[in-house]
Amino acid sequence: MDASLLLPASNLLEQSSFLTPKEIAAFRASGFSTYGDLLMHLPKRHEDRRQFDAFPVMPTAHAVCLRGMVIDARSMRFSSSYAAYEAIILNGSGGVFGSNKITCRWFNMPFLSKMLAAGHEVIVYGKVKDFKGKLVIDHPEFEIIRDEGAESIHVDRIVPIYKNVSGIAQRRLREIQHLLLHRVNPASFVCPIDVSPGRDRFADLRLAHFPEDLAEAQQVRRRFALEEFFALQLNVVWRRARHFDVAGRVLGRRTTLLKAFYESLPFDLTGAQKRSIKEILADMRSPRPMNRLLQGDVGSGKTFVAMASMLLAIDSGCQAALMAPTQILAEQHYLTFRKWLAPLGVRLSLRTGNREEQSHAQEEGDAQIIIGTHALLYDPGAFPDLGFVVIDEQHKFGVSQRARLISHGVKPDVLVMTATPIPRTLTLTLYGDLDVSVLDERPANRGKVITALRKDPKITDITAFLKQHLTEGRQAYLVYPLVEESETVKAESATEAFVKWQKRLKPHNTGLLHGKMSAEEKEQTMQAFRAGEIHALVSTTVIEVGVDVPNANIMIIHHAERFGLAQLHQLRGRIGRGEHKSYCILLTDSKTPEALEKLQALVDSHDGFVIAEVDLRLRGPGDVLGTAQSGIADLKFADFLADPTLLREARALADEVIARDPLLNQQHAALRPWISEELALREQRD
Ligand code: ADP
Ligand code: MG
Repeated sequence: MDASLLLPASNLLEQSSFLTPKEIAAFRASGFSTYGDLLMHLPKRHEDRRQFDAFPVMPTAHAVCLRGMVIDARSMRFSSSYAAYEAIILNGSGGVFGSNKITCRWFNMPFLSKMLAAGHEVIVYGKVKDFKGKLVIDHPEFEIIRDEGAESIHVDRIVPIYKNVSGIAQRRLREIQHLLLHRVNPASFVCPIDVSPGRDRFADLRLAHFPEDLAEAQQVRRRFALEEFFALQLNVVWRRARHFDVAGRVLGRRTTLLKAFYESLPFDLTGAQKRSIKEILADMRSPRPMNRLLQGDVGSGKTFVAMASMLLAIDSGCQAALMAPTQILAEQHYLTFRKWLAPLGVRLSLRTGNREEQSHAQEEGDAQIIIGTHALLYDPGAFPDLGFVVIDEQHKFGVSQRARLISHGVKPDVLVMTATPIPRTLTLTLYGDLDVSVLDERPANRGKVITALRKDPKITDITAFLKQHLTEGRQAYLVYPLVEESETVKAESATEAFVKWQKRLKPHNTGLLHGKMSAEEKEQTMQAFRAGEIHALVSTTVIEVGVDVPNANIMIIHHAERFGLAQLHQLRGRIGRGEHKSYCILLTDSKTPEALEKLQALVDSHDGFVIAEVDLRLRGPGDVLGTAQSGIADLKFADFLADPTLLREARALADEVIARDPLLNQQHAALRPWISEELALREQRD
């Protein structure tokens, strides 16, 4: 084609002659503005339509791709709000035996009756299961085959399947992409960073959409993933550099309080605790503001590292704040801090949404250490002189909240603590702007924790086991996944179970804790449990994070398969905190291999990092990290988060770029718009 007829990738969709106004509106509504945007909507998978799967005779573990003829289709209505559309597909080559029919079912999608009817030749994609002796695919992806010419882009080749764009049929989307790949000027499809020197970017793009073989598709996909991850890392490295732009204050020269604290402790700090405090102290003494992550499994003693660091800070005359994700935790931290620090004469105050408690604080603003929840964020008056900030359980806070708290002080030193070990490679993505200290050692004189998996155990056995330990003076957690009885889910709820356990465990006292209770009620219950007045605590996951009752040595988790792996590990961290041998018993009636593999991982390991790796393998990065983490939710290539080499490559590239052009105003100026703060600023101005 004559190059002058080619279109620039930056053309707006409105400028096209081949898209209808309706299509343009649909693309716009999904966030696409230019041809380039559309071209970067890469296929989520490919289908090899040169050869289809054989019609299965049994349910399948994986999705299959079938080609056949619709021989019958009908709508069914079960109630005013529940309808189904069924299409029976016959193997094109067949009719020999009865096993070559598959029933496709769609629920509550009435418009399908207008699209798909007997006589249509179709391709369907989905997992086959058995429904009352019939082989069915529920909600298959499907496409109707029309008269296809020899040059068809829809059959007889490897075909791209795109994530749906609302209002555009799959087939039409494929046609548009195919057209753009031939009409857009390759020279205009540029990226300000070349991540694969020597490879033609547009040729890679073509292969990513319409590859010759499937391995090739994955390889070129990686190129575009690398571009995306580079953008992410560029922001991380940029943020890190900016953090160091402004000089912070020098803290930690006086160690009088720290020495007094050490002398008051009945135990020695672990080697890992000492090492971390040293690393923190070095940061504090440097005029460069500290920005550090303290990573440690549950029970590894992070709180004491925080306490020591905060003492160093206040000894230099400034205030220190600790922000916890829940009120229970804030209150517990407050009690712990008061226990250890009040004798040293430290002035503490607690601020949560519900109340304000001051201890030894003469007046507002006089506290040296302030502990609280999010409420801290909205109370700038509380920090006339904030120099040191600890953020506990960072994964519950967003990056922007972190920024907000930090903005209260004159570049305070920041310590972020997390008890959720994440696979090491992901640390680079989530906490890439932070330095990292790791507590990889459990405090001595801890009892062993034994984890066991039990399927369908007798309730009398559990009761006897519990009673034996309660009689010896220990305490127990009985964890349930749900608060109230639910019709759809068969699991017993905490509220229901509480009534039963109260009877079974008499004369021992049983308590109940769940998220729907008021903060006041929760705190009372926790207080009674801490004081040993409640012996067995029936609870939902509100006890998950950071709760510390060393005398509790038993945890029985009901319907354990319903919890995530990380969550189960967190829960288990509540026990094994005292000198007694502890037991974590996972109960399940699930028989699926996935559930059992997940639970077995907990039996096999107590190392949070090992468990995090298993979790990543079983669930994939999107689910492991959750969507709350900024920058992760919108990733196009999230599946590559599990690829450590790619992550390191992206980081190295970003480091290189910022080293060469720290402010992105020289040879890499074209990358400046990729910095998201910059984006946000520009949006404000517009
Ligand atoms: P984390 O915050 O990492 O979950 P904590 O700081 O709450 O852990 O500590 C867990 C428990 O271990 C607490 O009861 C604490 O008193 C105790 N502890 C902390 N450090 C040590 C240590 N070096 N030796 C003995 N016990 C410790
Ligand atoms: Mg903690």
